[in-house]
Amino acid sequence: MKKFGFGFMRLPTLPGGGEGDIDYPKAFEMVDYFLSQGFTYFDIARGYMEGNCEAAFNKCVAQRYERDKYVLTDKLTVDYFKTREDILPLIENQLKVTGAGYFDYYFLHSVSRLTYPKFLSCGALEILRPLKEKGLVKHIGISYHDKSDFLDEILTAHPEIEVVQIQFNYADYRDTGIDSRGVYETARKHNKPVLVMEPVKGGILSRLPERAMAVISELNEELSVSPSRGSSPASYAIRFAASFEGIMMVLSGMNNLEQVVENTSFMKDFVPLNPREYEALEKVNEILKATDAIPCTNCRYCTSGCPQNIRIPDLFACLNSKRSFNEWGSEFYYEVNTASGGKASDCIDCGQCEDACPQHLEIRSLLREVAEVFEKKEEENGN
Ligand code: SF4
Ligand code: SF4
Repeated sequence: MKKFGFGFMRLPTLPGGGEGDIDYPKAFEMVDYFLSQGFTYFDIARGYMEGNCEAAFNKCVAQRYERDKYVLTDKLTVDYFKTREDILPLIENQLKVTGAGYFDYYFLHSVSRLTYPKFLSCGALEILRPLKEKGLVKHIGISYHDKSDFLDEILTAHPEIEVVQIQFNYADYRDTGIDSRGVYETARKHNKPVLVMEPVKGGILSRLPERAMAVISELNEELSVSPSRGSSPASYAIRFAASFEGIMMVLSGMNNLEQVVENTSFMKDFVPLNPREYEALEKVNEILKATDAIPCTNCRYCTSGCPQNIRIPDLFACLNSKRSFNEWGSEFYYEVNTASGGKASDCIDCGQCEDACPQHLEIRSLLREVAEVFEKKEEENGN
C-alpha cells in the first residue's frame, strides 16, 4: 500500500453552498485521479462535511469501484452515541451508508482524556472485537489527540489497538503543547504502525509567509528539484511526516484536483527527506514560530457546540492572515465570516469550544484578540 491517503473532510463544495453541499463532479475527478495513480487509502468519519462524508464516500467510491480497489477507515465519534446500546446499530448504519461492506480499519475517533472515559464506559473496544471476528472490521485503531503519557496508558491497557493515528508535522514536532514527537515515539514503543493526520497543519504549512517561502525557493534552486519530486511547501511537509520510521500512511484532506495531482506525483515513488531538506524545514519553522500564528488546524470540532454560532477557525484564519502576511483582504473576510456567524465579541465565555479543541487552544482569549484587531476598526468606522 502506498503511504499517502485521501481524507474526505475538505471535499470541494458548490459555490455559495455550505460545507455539506459537495460538488460531486469535482469530487469524482479527484477520486478517479487518486486511484488511477495506484493510491488506495481513504479516511472518513460521520461528522465530516456536515455529516455527509459517509454518503459522499458511497457515491464517489463504493458505487463506482470494486471493493478490492480501495482501503477504508471509518470512525466511532462520541457525539453520535449516548449509551453502549447505541454503538452497534451506529456501526451497522455506517456500513450501510458507506456501502463498503466492511471497514479495513475502524478507529475510536479523537481519543483524549475528555473522550476516552465515554469510550471506556460504553465498552467500545469490546463491541469491536466480535465485529473483527466476523470480518466487518479488519483492524482496530484510534485517532489520538492528547499527550504521550496518556497514550502510553491506553496502549498498555489495550494491546488490541493495532494502529494509531496522530497529528504529526514539522511545526508540531517539538511543540510541547501538542507533544507530537512524544506521541509518535510512544506509539512506536508499543510497535504500532502510525498514521499521520494534519501533515500540513490544516493548510498552514502550505501557505508560508514570504520569508519562509524564500527558504523553500532557495532549497529548490540548490537541489534543482524536479516537479515529480515535489517542490511546494506542502510537498516538503508531507514528505517530512512520511520520512519517519513506522509511518504507515500520511493523510491529506484534499480540496481540489490540483492538490491530488501534485501530492500523488511526489508520493508515488516516495523519497525520504535528505539532511539539506531537514535543515531548510528547521529554518522555515523558526520563521513561522516568530510570526505568532494561531496553530488552529481548521478541524472544526469546536464549531458545532458554539451557542453563538461563531465560525471560530475562520476568524482565527483572518487573524493569522493579517499577522503573517499583513493581508489586506483579512478585514473583508472577517466581515464575510461574521455575516454568516457570530462575531468574536459575541462569545459568552461558556468554554464548550475549548473542551472540544484537540490543539488545546485558549479559544476565548484568542477571540478577544480577534475582536480587538477587527472590531475596533469597525467601531472607528461607526459600524
Ligand atoms: S466560549 Fe465562546 S466561542 Fe466558545 S463555544 Fe462558548 S460562545 Fe462559542
Ligand atoms: S480552534 Fe481548535 S477545534 Fe476549532 S478548528 Fe481550530 S484546532 Fe479545531
